[in-house]
Order: sequence, then structure tokens, then C-alpha cells
Amino acid sequence: MAERDVLETDVLVVGGGPAGLAAAIRFKDLLDAHNAKAGSKLEASVMVVEKAAEFGAHNLSGAVLDPVSLQELCPDFDAKNAPVSTRVTGDRVYFLTENRSFRLPIVPPPLQNHGNRIISLNQLVKWLAGEAEKRGIDLLAGFPGAEVLYEGDRVVGVRTGDKGIDKHGNKKGNFEAGVDLRAKITILAEGARGSLTKSLVPRLGLDKGRHPQVYSIGIKELWEVPKGTLPRGEVIHTAGFPLEEDTFGGGFIYGFTDTLVSIGLVVGLDYKDPLLDPHGLFQRMKQHPLVKPLLEKGTMVRYGARTIGEGGWYSIPRPYADGVMLIGEAAGYLNPARLKGVHLALKTGMQAAETALEALLADDTSAAKLKAFDDRVRSSYVKDELWKTRNFHAAFKNGLWFALPQLGLQEITGGHGLEDPLEPSAGYAEMQTLARYWGGGLGKDSFERPKADGKLTFDRLTDVYNSGTKHDEDQPAHLHVADPNICETRCKEEFGNPCERFCPAAVYEMVPKGDDPKQERLQINFSNCVHCKTCDVMDPYQIITWVTPEGGGGPRYDDL
Ligand code: SF4
Repeated sequence: MAERDVLETDVLVVGGGPAGLAAAIRFKDLLDAHNAKAGSKLEASVMVVEKAAEFGAHNLSGAVLDPVSLQELCPDFDAKNAPVSTRVTGDRVYFLTENRSFRLPIVPPPLQNHGNRIISLNQLVKWLAGEAEKRGIDLLAGFPGAEVLYEGDRVVGVRTGDKGIDKHGNKKGNFEAGVDLRAKITILAEGARGSLTKSLVPRLGLDKGRHPQVYSIGIKELWEVPKGTLPRGEVIHTAGFPLEEDTFGGGFIYGFTDTLVSIGLVVGLDYKDPLLDPHGLFQRMKQHPLVKPLLEKGTMVRYGARTIGEGGWYSIPRPYADGVMLIGEAAGYLNPARLKGVHLALKTGMQAAETALEALLADDTSAAKLKAFDDRVRSSYVKDELWKTRNFHAAFKNGLWFALPQLGLQEITGGHGLEDPLEPSAGYAEMQTLARYWGGGLGKDSFERPKADGKLTFDRLTDVYNSGTKHDEDQPAHLHVADPNICETRCKEEFGNPCERFCPAAVYEMVPKGDDPKQERLQINFSNCVHCKTCDVMDPYQIITWVTPEGGGGPRYDDL
């Protein structure tokens, strides 16, 4: 057995995104305020571990930020030069057909962004990490949480990943065993489809009575364009093309600065067509007559992709247990109607911090005590917001045209609509076989990807290059396929190996197996992986498990 170092802390935050850093900052501020008062002082430490080489490197989002909770966390955030200075100046919403666009006469209320800011989540997280550092919080970058540590059903910390294992599983000269980080309270803030959260929730039965989480994939590029192409602060949302009516999602285009445009496509990971290719659809979106003129004189400078937890209120598991709380998108605190989760990540991080301090002062970190976190969520604007949109995503189950009247009714009935709750199914279960969806008339070659021209449209490998992704090649693959035989036989036959299409980074590839051209095997190009978690979510047989690779590997999402 490997010798492991053990580090102890009072509060351990796993994941240094907006939720995790907000939790750490709030905890330290409250602790200092408590200790500044006369009376008993509490000695307590807080530590944040992050799998990326630098804080912010794995964070991307659209993003339009509602600053409400940043204001609570750092009331002087503008004076402190938080990178949120682009105020929304205009909102437009279009319905697109293949060649035309129709501007909606009014912007639906959830998409009205007056008072909000267009941001890069990467920049915001870097700034938050700086704020945490100023407060003396321990920040450990390059340390992925690989395993939850339990005593019985009580969470007592996290084991970080080993370093220096070669691709055959042998120790290299630089081997370092992962560290056992033991904590009185562990806060999981891994973002959507966190690998620790994924194993912890069913083990502790936190999803009992809850709906399955439903995800989307968001694919984004950052473009440098000539000044005047799109006004700074302009927000455009699109529905329709390039998505079929039976697929949830839409596009976004934001004037981030005078010369930077953020553009992306969100595709529901509960689509039916096994041949659907989110990356290919995004390339088609850029060719639309509304979009192309915004980009054609520009240059793509960054690319990334990430899953988004879209299920809403009914999909959030019980967010606490003995010694642990779940915050931000790890739990599913995201408003799918507003396309916003950063403000809820910040807020739930702060609420977990308030609960953690109370628990430490009472020397009681049991589930009964940490339930106060859930109570805080339920009595705050987090629940207000999510309750009104609790049936939003599920309304799309039968396609866009069935959804629209339901959404209108939900808007005027406080989220109830015709039926409450609307029951969603797990997204992967919606994917239909080739025979069912295409009736056997069309084959694997029926999908036409736009040919990448290297200027407006790109192939996956070019995009991966622009994501800045790097992994040491001499390590075990961090995508575990439980039974590759299924890929070669059943999946090929039934679904046409959809992993080749839903992965936005060309990780999965069916390659010839021996001399027989009909025989193929799965090749996993794991070093391309941008950590989006789409495969873990959408694989129709649920045999793919994403685990943390060696710390520091992955994308580098500067300015995304
Ligand atoms: Fe995303 Fe999975 Fe592809 Fe990695 S392998 S980029 S997690 S779909």
C-alpha cells in the first residue's frame, strides 16, 4: 500500500470554481468577523483543492452574470476591479430557420438582462482566487479530488489523485501518492457532473425521491473581431436552427468587449437522434446569415465545452449529509430558463460557508446540523428563482412547439403550468436507436458535417488545440469504459457509436481492428479531453466513467 501524507483542515472545499471560492471567502470573512468580536475565538482553517494547474483554467461559461450575489460576497467588487465591467446594453432574441432570422418583438422575461454583466468565468474565477489568497486561504491547484473518504456514512475528507503512474499502471520515478485531506466538513463544488458527487449521491441515497439530473452541452468559442462588429454589451440569443424541433437548446452571441465576441451553442443531452453531433451543429450555426457576418472578418482565439445541469429544482439531490454539503452546479443550482448558474453558485457557496461556521462553533457537523444549509437555500432567492422554473426543461420533452405554450402557462402560474411536477427521464434514455429514429433508411454517413474551412468552421482537433488542452500522455486513460466489447458490437449496430459525435474533442474513435474492414475497436485519445463530462452523461449504455486524470492536466480556458 502506498504511504500517504495526511493533511487536516476544518473545512475542505473540493473544486475551485465560483461556488467553491465563494464558500472559502465567505467562511474566512465570517470567521474573522466572529473572532474580532469579544468572547470566544475559533481557530479554523479552510482549504480549496482544484484539479486544474491554475485556478480558473477549467472554468468556462457563456456568460451573463446577475451580479446580485457577487454584490453580497464582495460589496466593493467594482472598486476592486472584478472583471465584470461589461454591462449589458441590449437584448435580442431570434428564431432561426436555415436561411432566415425572425427577431422576437419582445424579449421573454427570463432572458431580459438589464443590469447584468457579460463576463468570462475564467477571469472571474482567477479574480476570486486572488481575493481568497489575500485572505490567507490555502489554495491547492493541480490536486484533483479522486476519492471521497468515509467513516461509515460520514464524509471525513477526500483523497487526491496519485501522480507519476505510467500508462500501464506502473509507478514512475516521480511517483507521489495522493494525499488524504481530512476535514470536519467537506464541501463538494466540482461543477456539473462532478465525479465525486456522482458516486456520493447514490451511496448516501441523496437522490431519493428526486428527478434525475438532465444536462446540456455548451460549446463556446471566443472570437477577436474588428471594432464595431458587435457593440460591447450586446446580448443575442437564438432558438431554432441548427437544432431540430425535437432537440432542446439554442445559441448565444455576446459582445464581451469592443473586439471580443463570445459565441456558443447549447444542446440538450436528452436528444433523440443518435447521429446528432453538437460540435458539427455549432459549426453550422456559425454559417447562418445572421451569424456569419459577425465572425467572417475575425479570428477564433479560444474554444471550450462543458456540460450544464439543466434539470432545475426537482433534480437537486438532498445537498447535505454527515460531514458534507453540495453546492453550485455540483448539486444542480442553475436556472435553466435564465441560462444562469454563476450567481447561484456564489450564493450557495456563501450559504454553505455560513452553515459551516455555525456547525464548527457548535462542534456539530452532523447532517442534522448541516441541514441548515438547505434551509438557507429554501428561504432565499435561490429557491424563489428555481421554484418558478421547476418544470422548464421537462416542458421540452415533446419538442419545441409543445413546449412553448407550456412555458407561457408556467410563466403566469409561477412555474406550475399544466402539470406539476413534469417528470423528465434521464437524458441518455431518450436517445433512440438508428433503426427507430432513422427507420433503417439512413445510415451512419447520412449526417453531413460542414467541411471545416479553418476560418469560420473548424474540425474537432483544431478546436482542441485552441482549448489549450494538455495531458501527460504516459498515464492511464481517465475515461473508463466498463465493457469495450459493447462498443464494437451492440453500440455500433444499435446507435452507430454516438461517442464519436457527442464528444466535442475527438476523444472517441472507432478504428480498424485487424485486417477485416468490418471489424472496429474503440480507441480513446484521452489526452484531447476537455473535461466536459458529456460522455459520462450521454453514453446510451452508461458504461463510460470519467475519473480525474493526473492533477494539472486538461484545458486552459483563458478568457472563456
Ligand atoms: Fe468531454 Fe468525455 Fe470527450 Fe472528455 S472524453 S471531452 S469528458 S465527451
